[in-house]
Amino acid sequence: MNKDMKIVMLGIIGAGKGTQSKMIARHCGIPHISTGDIFREAVKNEDDLGRKTREIMKSGGLVPDSIVIDIVRKRLQKPDAQKGYILDGFPRTTNQAVEFGKGESVSIVFYISLKEDEVLRRLKGRRICAACKAEQNIYLDKDARDTCRKCGGRLIQREDDTEETIRVRIKTYLEQTQPLIEYYREKGLLSEIDGSQDIDAVFADIKKHL
Ligand code: AMP
Repeated sequence: MNKDMKIVMLGIIGAGKGTQSKMIARHCGIPHISTGDIFREAVKNEDDLGRKTREIMKSGGLVPDSIVIDIVRKRLQKPDAQKGYILDGFPRTTNQAVEFGKGESVSIVFYISLKEDEVLRRLKGRRICAACKAEQNIYLDKDARDTCRKCGGRLIQREDDTEETIRVRIKTYLEQTQPLIEYYREKGLLSEIDGSQDIDAVFADIKKHL
């Protein structure tokens, strides 16, 4: 394993960034930092950040760069992130990447590729356990259940996984985040992974680079 693992996960929503990030985190012993999770937690707690971000997230837009960058910087100062980290959902705009690059040097960017028409199918079936946050897909997983497979908890749908919001989020991704693929390719940091494969095959491809 490489010494310094500062990993960025890129890819369209629903490509499997979160799932693969959790697997890498377990494999490498480094934290999985998801800006989306941080904002969802804030919305749940109804704190100051949550009040600022709830409506933006619900509409499928992006939280302002200044807020996101500040949150990521603070999170990366914590002791568990000193040996490395996996950033999932950040950076999401070229400005975020440029600002972030001023203080941090990324070691590898995994771009998990997936066709747009597959995204809708995946996200409409996505369910999350209200208790332990485990994910399952009621349309795609062969062993899908009505309750959480891990803890039996209640399954809920993300507030932004409705068809209307998914379409806005895809558009946001194509306009604002997709340019980062070329940005990191030019820096020689990009490794493209075929996200249409099953979960274990995607992870096997990722592991070749770790
Ligand atoms: P995700 O779980 O990564 O799909 O993020 C859910 C929502 O959180 C996004 O649709 C955005 O509204 C917001 N969000 C997460 N990460 C970022 C980011 N890096 N920049 C701006 N908004 C973000």
